[in-house]
Amino acid sequence: MKLIALPAFSDNYLWLWQEGQQAGVIDPGEAAPVLQALANQGLTLAAILVTHHHADHIGGVRELQQATGAQVWGPALEDIPSPFTPVMQGDNWNLLGQRVEVIDVPGHTAGHVAYFLPNAPTSPVLFCGDTLFSGGCGRIFEGTPAQMLASLDSLAALPATTKVCCAHEYTLSNLRFAVAVEPRNTALQTYMAECQQLRKEGMPTLPAQLGKELQINPFLRARHPDVRLAVAQHAGLSATEQTDDVAVFAALREWKNNFR
Ligand code: ZN
Ligand code: FE
Repeated sequence: MKLIALPAFSDNYLWLWQEGQQAGVIDPGEAAPVLQALANQGLTLAAILVTHHHADHIGGVRELQQATGAQVWGPALEDIPSPFTPVMQGDNWNLLGQRVEVIDVPGHTAGHVAYFLPNAPTSPVLFCGDTLFSGGCGRIFEGTPAQMLASLDSLAALPATTKVCCAHEYTLSNLRFAVAVEPRNTALQTYMAECQQLRKEGMPTLPAQLGKELQINPFLRARHPDVRLAVAQHAGLSATEQTDDVAVFAALREWKNNFR
């Protein structure tokens, strides 16, 4: 199994999952980079996995489906180009020799799903769309902060070795915010220096590693005393709000929304 991050638009990655001469693609917001990669490497597209309905994740689905005949899977609760196989929490099947499990992760959109490959070689793989980013999380457009926190909790419970394939290269700007929240987190500073170096070399910072995210991503650390205190001070939370996980998480997300 090989994972390739195909850059698209200004900061999207379309993840190409290669298995021998066959391939799957996750969230093809446009078809051209995928068709080119397939042609360059002599691959057949067998599968298209969609995490949510936003245009930068589904824009290339129809063209790819028509050009290759690949089967499409997508969230049951969202409007995805048809025909597609609707999936939801607990669904699992074998694809390209791997077991795929569906995890519901509402918040960014109401029906957002993630795809987890528990038995991928070396370490498990997660395709999480716009739910979890390295150093950050997606904006809450359709769901509630409580839903987004629960979604991130379910991803945080996956094995620490899990490779996290996010749909955007937002890492450096996320880490600038993370440092503002946790200026004394040394793991965060080290990770930021590593990511800056990767970007300088034109390399993706992804896939991220879940265990590392637990050390550096404020949105996975909203219950940590340092994060809780920083958010409480920034947002002027009352003593009761400070003990409410959802209130702290919501204020953290709000802080990031306005952070420049
Ligand atoms: Zn999105
Ligand atoms: Fe997106």
